[in-house]
Amino acid sequence: MSGEVADDLADIRSLNSRRGPRCQTAVIFSAMDPKMLETVGRALQDPAIERRAIHRWLVAKGIPLSWYSFEHHTSGDCRCER
Ligand SMILES: [Zn+2]
Repeated sequence: MSGEVADDLADIRSLNSRRGPRCQTAVIFSAMDPKMLETVGRALQDPAIERRAIHRWLVAKGIPLSWYSFEHHTSGDCRCER
């Protein structure tokens, strides 16, 4: 019986988040103009600014970033190292 629990724990452990290749957002951020990156960084820390608004601004600036990727990266729910 305890063997089965150990097997289940191993299964659950294998579902831990793994850090892998950088996500789309991290790749784009690493190539982004430093001033724009600083603006994004400050905007993310501003409680009066929604992440949706930051994403709209980036898209308007011609940055080809999906909301899905941006949202996951900025909420720490992507797999890349930070
Ligand atoms: Zn990421």
